[in-house]
Amino acid sequence: MLSSQDRIFLNLYGQKDWKLEGAKKRGDWNNTKAILDLGRDAIIKTVIDSGLRGRGGAGFSTGLKWSFMPKQQGELPHYLVVNGDESEPGTCKDREILRHEPHKIIEGALIASFAIGAHTAYIYIRGEYYNEANHLQIAIDEAYEAGLIGKNACESGWDFDFHIHRGAGAYICGEETAQLESLEGKKGEPRLKPPFPANKGLYGCPTTINNVESISVTPTILRRGSSWFNGIGRANNTGPKLMTLSGHIQTPCVFEEALGLPLKEIIETHGGGVRGGWDNLLAVIPGGTSMPLLNKETCETAIMDFDGLRSAGSNLGTAAIIVMDKSTDIIKAMTRIAQFYKHESCGQCTPCREGSAWVLKVMRRMTEGNAEIDEIDMLMDVTGQIENTTICAMGMSISWPIQSLIRNFRPLMEKRLMDYKTTHGGTSLIQIPKEAMVGT
Ligand code: SF4
Repeated sequence: MLSSQDRIFLNLYGQKDWKLEGAKKRGDWNNTKAILDLGRDAIIKTVIDSGLRGRGGAGFSTGLKWSFMPKQQGELPHYLVVNGDESEPGTCKDREILRHEPHKIIEGALIASFAIGAHTAYIYIRGEYYNEANHLQIAIDEAYEAGLIGKNACESGWDFDFHIHRGAGAYICGEETAQLESLEGKKGEPRLKPPFPANKGLYGCPTTINNVESISVTPTILRRGSSWFNGIGRANNTGPKLMTLSGHIQTPCVFEEALGLPLKEIIETHGGGVRGGWDNLLAVIPGGTSMPLLNKETCETAIMDFDGLRSAGSNLGTAAIIVMDKSTDIIKAMTRIAQFYKHESCGQCTPCREGSAWVLKVMRRMTEGNAEIDEIDMLMDVTGQIENTTICAMGMSISWPIQSLIRNFRPLMEKRLMDYKTTHGGTSLIQIPKEAMVGT
């Protein structure tokens, strides 16, 4: 378990003052100038050595990402974009930082911007986070007023401006290049890569995009040192991490915990256990709804970090743990998730646009039982064709939940189809030639 002295977020539940005075009492803005005086290379090296992996889902090294920015400032300005478009169902960790620890974001943005040579940073906040954006704006105003940002920020000689941009509710604007398009005032559609944002990002200029949590933890890493951070968790999976617990547990919550603990222990300690006891567990989605679900047997031994969940057949994603007990209609639940991703497809790629609609249609029939057994294999096949043929990771978000359902609950799906046939005279209501099923 994470010891209290290793916690980074000391006002996660908003019980203390979230404004500048309270933030300073918790250690924020403590000699930030000394951190900046270390210089860019030393700051980037410390963040790389800490092992910090991006907290927004992809898990790429934050320090390495910073190092990809051009070393010399050319004619084009550099930009930092902080991704606060938290929209993955089940995930609400960045929200707590935005409303209760806004100064951690601002200080982290200043340090990151200095490290990548950017004088301007934008934070893209999910539009529904209205109160959270208001808190952050108040904190930004306080920071300007106190000389912590703006001209000669923290008397470091570095000028730094920080702007809020509020989204309008599209999930896909959480994808980094779609976010850049949206910031530029265009439709939020992911860009083809390369070029990568470090070469050609916002307004065609070198840009780094980091998640809110990734940015917020960097001041503490630089104050306490890389070895403190990488001493928590396991090799390649270091540090404390904000996690979300929801679903059929006793106490839904957001909490900070060390990576590398057993998933079962986390559910029991922070969530108060599965409703009806552990044996009433059906499945867990460990990282937001786009990640593959795990069955109860796998949850017994799964480790809650990047590598642990990968070897268990899923991914850490946003560390949003969704617990489903045996009262759950798991086929219906996955159909609802398929509906979400179909709705949020931006429509640029045919496999995502058409595939997500097809998957939803078939899953709706699967929920009812009105489908052929062969269609289960066809779902596996078609989702396999969607997952790696799209511009952005949405192809995986559409495919992985369905594939994990089939891998873990195929007998249940088959039983539902057989039961339907029994109650409807031994035949499904629809008779579709197999070759015509794709595209129905
Ligand atoms: Fe848009 Fe889907 Fe293609 Fe992503 S995969 S760019 S969401 S159509």
